[in-house]
Amino acid sequence: MQDVLLNKVRQVFSGDLAIFGGPATDDATAGRLRAEQLAGVLRHSRGIMIANVCNALIFVVAECHTPDTGAAAVWAAMVIALVALVHLRQRQRRDLPKPQTVSERAVRRAVLYAFALGALWSAVPLLFFNSAPIGVQLVVACLCSGMLAGGAFGLGGIPIAALAFTGPIFISSAIAIGRSGDMTYMLVAALLVVYALVLLRTVFSYAIETASRLVAQFDAELRLRRDPLTELPNRLDFTESVEAAFARLARDRRPFTLLWLDLDSFKAINDRLGHTVGDEILVQAADRLRACVGIGDGLARLGGDEFAIIAADAASPEQAAAFARRIVEAFAQPFHIDGQEVMNTISIGLATAPADGDSPRTLLRSADIALYHAKGARGGSFRFFDATDHAFARERRAIEHDLGNALQRGEFRLVYQPILNLDDDRIVGFEALIRWHHPTRGLVGPVDFIPVAESTGMIRRIGDWVVEEACRAASAWPDAIRISVNFSAVQFRDPGIATRVKAAIAASGLAPGRFEVEVTETVLLSDDAAALEILLALSAEGVRVALDDFGTGYSSLSYLRKLPLHRVKIDRSFVQDLQTDLQNAAIVKSVIGLAADLGIETTAEGVETAEQLAFLRAHQCSEAQGYLIGRPVDATEATALLERQPRPAKASTTRASGKRTAKGKPKAHCD
Ligand code: C2E
Ligand code: MG
Ligand code: MG
Repeated sequence: MQDVLLNKVRQVFSGDLAIFGGPATDDATAGRLRAEQLAGVLRHSRGIMIANVCNALIFVVAECHTPDTGAAAVWAAMVIALVALVHLRQRQRRDLPKPQTVSERAVRRAVLYAFALGALWSAVPLLFFNSAPIGVQLVVACLCSGMLAGGAFGLGGIPIAALAFTGPIFISSAIAIGRSGDMTYMLVAALLVVYALVLLRTVFSYAIETASRLVAQFDAELRLRRDPLTELPNRLDFTESVEAAFARLARDRRPFTLLWLDLDSFKAINDRLGHTVGDEILVQAADRLRACVGIGDGLARLGGDEFAIIAADAASPEQAAAFARRIVEAFAQPFHIDGQEVMNTISIGLATAPADGDSPRTLLRSADIALYHAKGARGGSFRFFDATDHAFARERRAIEHDLGNALQRGEFRLVYQPILNLDDDRIVGFEALIRWHHPTRGLVGPVDFIPVAESTGMIRRIGDWVVEEACRAASAWPDAIRISVNFSAVQFRDPGIATRVKAAIAASGLAPGRFEVEVTETVLLSDDAAALEILLALSAEGVRVALDDFGTGYSSLSYLRKLPLHRVKIDRSFVQDLQTDLQNAAIVKSVIGLAADLGIETTAEGVETAEQLAFLRAHQCSEAQGYLIGRPVDATEATALLERQPRPAKASTTRASGKRTAKGKPKAHCD
């Protein structure tokens, strides 16, 4: 009981208004509210100081011809000393940014100062009023009224401080007036009590109203800054935290490290097991990260499966590496969701300020690049931004800049790589591959600029050009020859793509069945439904769809059923080690078999040796593509290749539900 009471008193003296009908708050909100209350009072501190000093001096002047002059001077010195002390304490904090949160102690200290000052002022009516001549009494009455009204409003931000200041003055004034025994003075005392009540009521109700408004505002702000799923700060909050970290860096010169984290197989899991499991993984991932970070570290969810941490205590590379290692290890254990175990490792990019970036923008970019390399390495690992990355970042920016004009300047060319049908050893089509003839860099390959074009959105215009150019070239080839065109996942986020592709095919006069769209599995990861709709629309027109680089990325056999597929292209990485890697050989065999069962053809990519070709042939792969068959060539050379082909032999194959018949050993006709 006593504890409860003590607690209430402590609460009241810490500025909590709940007991007076103000809003009930949790600790964090109460801290922010106190910060606002204190800031409201400090805003008037200069005025309060000047008023106190002036009034004290006026009182000394008024008392100078009375016997109390000495006592008045001592009193005034005490007032000025106290005011100066408070002012000096405040000056020390003047250059610091306004704190986000303030402790209960700080408010109690402010209340104590207010009480001390009020107590000093209460001495004026008590000690000097009754013995003073009428003129001085008038001055005292005016000074006390002024201090009461000014104090109540000046300290109104913390009503309990206003009460602590004005209370003693009210009481001592009432005592002094009452002590005189004069009826008129008694009336003044009664008036004083009424005014006091009105004044304090106004102060309290205004403070409660302000506090309620602030709490509602904090709530709204919190919702704006929180990720509702994981309850972590969101990107908006994080951006401000990075800015605050840079402000601290400028002040304390203590470096800090920024970690950019990305779950390695989240998209695939989300796709395979559904969004509910995906959400649960994010929640559990957030909990694991919370368990790894310290109090001063700013953890946030940036969106999707990306998180970030400002590691305030990881200033040295060793500390940062130890921290990142702890996180990577925390994700080495599987997640347990609905009785199933799901593995999802994490990759981390680290950048340290100011060495890797002297502004939020550059530091974030550095961490992003480091993450890109960490993911590229193998996932489930961390990587620091380093000097070579600076070159990488510069290079990327330069490419970004130059790409902007490359299309208008006609710097792109298409080359065509032949695809061999293993049934009759004839070229059945070409894959269009883009090349960039840069005026100073020379020939730039697609792997160096397509990712940049994708991230800037330039891929849309470049992709349209590729489709038109490929159709134009293919329209000069015989009717049986197909053209395969690569599409980026980003292109499928544009709902108009199907219409534009159909229009380009129609304009070139090509039969839609001769046009093949090559997509990778990432197409489906970004926006399943929309991408699928586009592919179905194209497929309905007769356009063929191939799944490129099968086996890399987020391979899921369910794509084979999900997509309107005509072909699977087995990635070069599987074909290359066919002879030495038994596992690869087994995968290739089963992909061919599975695709055949589903009525889907298979093209093996990157065939470089006769042994690889023999293996593919023996296992009934439909087509082969690679340097052994032919390197990519320009349109004229592609046409020449077709012209050099021997006439087609009489029907050598039959195909039923994708199954191939056995046949003899054909010979590749192109180099
Ligand atoms: P991809 O679609 O898998 O294309 C095959 C890549 O493998 C081509 O590289 C080709 O030159 C190379 N290649 C073919 N046979 C062999 C071989 O036997 N050995 C080796 N070592 N490599 C071989 P390229 O032209 O550098 O293209 C790389 C990737 O860039 C393509 O992979 C494709 O994903 C993308 N790409 C190319 N052109 C375009 C385009 O017009 N649009 C889009 N969005 N992406 C494109
Ligand atoms: Mg391709
Ligand atoms: Mg490929």
